[in-house]
Amino acid sequence: MENRDMEAVRSIKTTVVIAGGGPAGMMLGLLLARANVDVTVIEKHSDFLRDFRGDTIHPSTLEIIEQLGFIKEFLALPHTEARQLHAEIGDQKVTIADFSWLPVKNRFIAFMPQWDFLNFVAGKAGQYENFRLLMSAPVTDLLQTGGRVHGLKVETPDGPLTIEADLVVGADGRNSVIRDKAGLEIERFGVPTEVLWMRLSKQPGDPTETMGHAGPQQGFVLIDRGDYWQCGYVVRKGFFADIKTKGLEAFRERVAEVCPLPRERLSEIKSWDDAQLLTVRIDRLKQWWKPGVICIGDAAHAMSPIGGVGVNLAIQDAVATANVLVPVLSSGRSITDVDLAAIEKRRSFPTKATQRLQLMMRSKNKKDQADAKRAKGPPAFVLAIMRFPLLAHLAGRLIGLGFRREKLKY
Ligand SMILES: Cc1cc2nc3c(=O)[nH]c(=O)nc-3n(C[C@H](O)[C@H](O)[C@H](O)COP(=O)(O)OP(=O)(O)OC[C@H]3O[C@@H](n4cnc5c(N)ncnc54)[C@H](O)[C@@H]3O)c2cc1C
Repeated sequence: MENRDMEAVRSIKTTVVIAGGGPAGMMLGLLLARANVDVTVIEKHSDFLRDFRGDTIHPSTLEIIEQLGFIKEFLALPHTEARQLHAEIGDQKVTIADFSWLPVKNRFIAFMPQWDFLNFVAGKAGQYENFRLLMSAPVTDLLQTGGRVHGLKVETPDGPLTIEADLVVGADGRNSVIRDKAGLEIERFGVPTEVLWMRLSKQPGDPTETMGHAGPQQGFVLIDRGDYWQCGYVVRKGFFADIKTKGLEAFRERVAEVCPLPRERLSEIKSWDDAQLLTVRIDRLKQWWKPGVICIGDAAHAMSPIGGVGVNLAIQDAVATANVLVPVLSSGRSITDVDLAAIEKRRSFPTKATQRLQLMMRSKNKKDQADAKRAKGPPAFVLAIMRFPLLAHLAGRLIGLGFRREKLKY
């Protein structure tokens, strides 16, 4: 991506500066740009190709893309579609979420590498003159005077740059520099778990669908990436450090207990470099904003990968933010604290409700906790769906559309 305006200018001014070119930042950049707002997105990496991130484009996000008029072009990109999500519990295949009846046009989750999705959004936003994307540019600090934020500091390959802005948006993910420098307070929930991400080849006779697979103690997720499986192995925090001391063969044995692919396939894990560790946590800001700055997406609320709803919520935050900001900026009025509070108010309920559900889904019910043998079995929500299959429709609604669906107003 081209770094415009960088060579000659060491200080620039923009109306809205967004730190972070993930789903939240890129989508907000596009929505503001198409509404004629001068917007600059700052991304620390040189491209969107990096660590595993959420690969799921949910029906609610597909609706936004539909509203933007890009759906045909978007769905022409390589992807797979899941109308249902399944889990394998012992020998039983359970449908844990069903999207096929949702009241939207695209009743499926599209699995697409996040870099393809972000490149697509960047391409659309880049068509507007008033959109600027600076890559390889980590944000290092905020510009603040008298408690009010009025811009940020960025390192670029050409040296430091300051950007003055009417509003700074922190969309820089779960380790947000913006929320840290703004001094926004974080509430943390639950015990972190770990996900080990691995690639295994796809071969004839493999399962045909993206699926979750719950073993006796751990979960295993297979994501179809066309010519290979992206595998996520969910374990308790500390597992990876423990198993590393026991060696790769012991690790392969543990994976084999829960992996639905043939045991021989695990010989493709040749070194510890083939297993990428990600710590999962659930947290949120007590207040998402202070004068001149607001955080959205994972920067405001890190989600657990349960239900794969992080990207979905990040996009919904971006839509809600644009819905508040566009009329304000189009009328020539300054953005006030009331506007920022309105964004938080709109998105606070879906965030809290989703996190509450994720925490509940992670835990066992009390009876199971008391029974050591059952405590190792599938979580209570999977057991409930096994008993009452219609609950898969409710799960489909919560995963596919979330608690409060945003629609583009402008
Ligand atoms: C193990 C795991 C599995 C997951 N699986 C799924 C899934 O299947 N489906 C799903 O929907 N969600 C999933 N999620 C969550 C999902 O990836 C996130 O919720 C989502 O990407 C959040 O989007 P975001 O734009 O808010 O933040 P991010 O995607 O984190 O984007 C933040 C961006 O900011 C950039 N950045 C960071 N610091 C700076 C800085 N100082 N300066 C400039 N740029 C900076 C980063 O490089 C990044 O591009 C998963 C998360 C984890 C940890």
